[in-house]
Order: sequence, then structure tokens, then C-alpha cells
Amino acid sequence: MAEPARKPLLAANWKMHKTVAEAQSFLADLLPRVAAVEAAEIAICPAYPALAAVVEHCASSRVRVCAQNMHEAADGAFTGEVSAPMLVELGVDGVILGHSERRQYFGETDAALARKLPAAFAAGLAPILCVGESEAQRDAGETERVLREQLTAGLATLENGRLGELAIAYEPIWAIGTGRTATPEQAQDACAFVRAVVGRRDDAAGNRVRVLYGGSVKPENAGELLDLPDVDGALVGGASLDPEAFASIVAAAA
Ligand code: PEP
Repeated sequence: MAEPARKPLLAANWKMHKTVAEAQSFLADLLPRVAAVEAAEIAICPAYPALAAVVEHCASSRVRVCAQNMHEAADGAFTGEVSAPMLVELGVDGVILGHSERRQYFGETDAALARKLPAAFAAGLAPILCVGESEAQRDAGETERVLREQLTAGLATLENGRLGELAIAYEPIWAIGTGRTATPEQAQDACAFVRAVVGRRDDAAGNRVRVLYGGSVKPENAGELLDLPDVDGALVGGASLDPEAFASIVAAAA
């Protein structure tokens, strides 16, 4: 029997940008532009203070809302942290986990991600797990080793039944925010490799898991990247701050 098609996911990672007022003005512009889109899933990932307003603004649309991080515990003495149940109470649908900026600047580890992923699913959040190699690692021919290690360790505690529900964003660090995009061949090879690693654990999950590409996706290159057979969407940083640019990337996928 043929596997069901994977619906593309376009996620806007706003990072530490946009106040509540700026988020509302962005959505007033974006939502009419994407109102007719059914063939792709759209997620906006604002900073914590704008989450509630974005959830409210998107409530009557198909646009979903994700946080950019969470703590693995439901509550506790973890000053400055936010838990999955707190996000769910706000109406948040999912969460980005393991973004390279969190790994690089805030000490996010694969071991912590192995605790966060099951906690996100248990609370009812759909995680987007980020993996990717640095430029030095790519130059040294270590891309596949890095991806395999991040995936093996990060997914270690996740039961096979959940694997296929994941979205995994392949984000080469050298392409994030740099304007340098992976070539279609590099993106396809890496995304296919990510799928194969998941598939080695569970064949059906490998077919179901959505693998996104992230790293300087723009309206000009979205079409060729989103057309690749193992690329099921994009995690978009800089270009997602502009409603016209993000809508045009969504249109390329839809
Ligand atoms: C990101 O932040 O995940 C990202 C891919 O950023 P950019 O699109 O700006 O490279």
C-alpha cells in the first residue's frame, strides 16, 4: 500500500524578534495571504511574550503556533524556564527543540533533548527537532557522523510510535542567518540521510517523519529546495519576519 503523502510544514522561527504589537501587525498582513492554503501546514514560532497574542490572532485560521524552546520538567525550581504544560495552557501547538542557537549559546545538549522530546509529546506538543553540522564539520567530511550522533542521542528515549510524528529540521549551522544556502544536492543528501537514520530505527517512521530544511531559505530559493524529494518543508528565520516573503515561501510549498 502506498504511504500517505507528507504534508509540507513551513515554520517561521522569529527568534528574539517581534513585540506583541509587531506580531499582530505581521499576522494582519500574513493571514489573508495564506487563508486559502490547504496543501501546506504553517506554523509561527514567536518569542514567549507574544505567544498568547499569536494564538488568539491565529485561532480562526489554520495557522499553528509553536514555542522556540521548553524545559523538560512540568514545573519546579528552574528560574527563567517554561514548561510544556504551560505552553499547552496558552493554546500552543508545538515547540522547536535543539535549535543550533540554543545548542551554541545556551548549552542545549542531546541528553537534554532526549528528555524534552518525550515531555513535549506527553503534554500534547508537536516537536520540531533541529540538527545540523558546523562548517568545520562539513569541511572535514563529518556531516553524516554529526547528524547520526545528534539523532541517535536526541531520539534515544522516544518510543518508535512517536518517531513518525516528529518533524526534524536539518539546519546546517553555516547556512543559518548567513545568506549562504545549502545547494539542492547538499540539502537533499542530508535530509535523505536524516530520514534513513529514523528509518533504520523504524521503517514506517522513516517514511512518515517530516524532514525540513532550514538555512537562509528565501522566496528566491524556496521553490528548488521544497521540490526536493526528501524535503518536507522549511524552518525559516530571517525571511519569516516579512509577511510577503514568508507567504511567498508558503506558496512555493503549497
Ligand atoms: C533558523 O533560525 O532556523 C534559520 C534557518 O534562520 P535563517 O532562515 O535566517 O537562516
